[in-house]
Amino acid sequence: MNLVLLGAPGAGKGTQAESLAKVLRIPIISTGNMLREAIRTETETGKQAKALMDTGNFVPDELIISMVRERLSAPDCRGGYILDGVPRNLSQAQALESCGIHFDAVISLEVADAFIEARMTGRRVCPACGASFHISSHSPKREGVCDVCGERLVIRTDDAPETVKHRLTVYHEQTEALKDYYRRQGKLHLIAGERSIEEVSRDILKSLGMKR
Ligand code: AMP
Repeated sequence: MNLVLLGAPGAGKGTQAESLAKVLRIPIISTGNMLREAIRTETETGKQAKALMDTGNFVPDELIISMVRERLSAPDCRGGYILDGVPRNLSQAQALESCGIHFDAVISLEVADAFIEARMTGRRVCPACGASFHISSHSPKREGVCDVCGERLVIRTDDAPETVKHRLTVYHEQTEALKDYYRRQGKLHLIAGERSIEEVSRDILKSLGMKR
């Protein structure tokens, strides 16, 4: 099954992708994590992306599309995948389609801006493996340490309050239009995201016709 997770920054896409990936046994393709890894390893892509990401702006579509195309051609994506953070605007959606990349379902996590702004201040991420935690709702077993790989958790530069506001504006201006686009294709599933991680996961699986 090829899935897309849509939603504002901080809506819980990363967390839901992790639990869906476990149930469905398919990989998560997160463009944000791929870009952060490119920055960490100082690749050409990372150099191009860093300043844009730090200020909450999008990196160029061409860079995203070639990165995603290459990743989706890997053998582990043959049985399906979960896209987290892409497509992020209409032109990316159309570019993927014209490369023959199609989705079975698009899940939009619906969370109000005020809720997101409050939630983002508690987010902690692993700089090594990309796992995402929250100090109150999804805390790691050992404070400040990644459950998955043991690395020290950090606050993302782009989770600063002013940057979060800007990212929400960019989401409303550019990404939200994708809901209509996929609704017209009959693929959109709206999921109320202001609930516990387990409740949201259960609803997503139910909307896909699966039970846990
Ligand atoms: P995320 O981890 O998905 O919130 O992404 C973090 C940042 O990476 C975004 O604010 C953008 O700067 C960049 N980014 C990730 N995915 C995309 C995309 N599909 N198109 C453009 N920029 C992206």
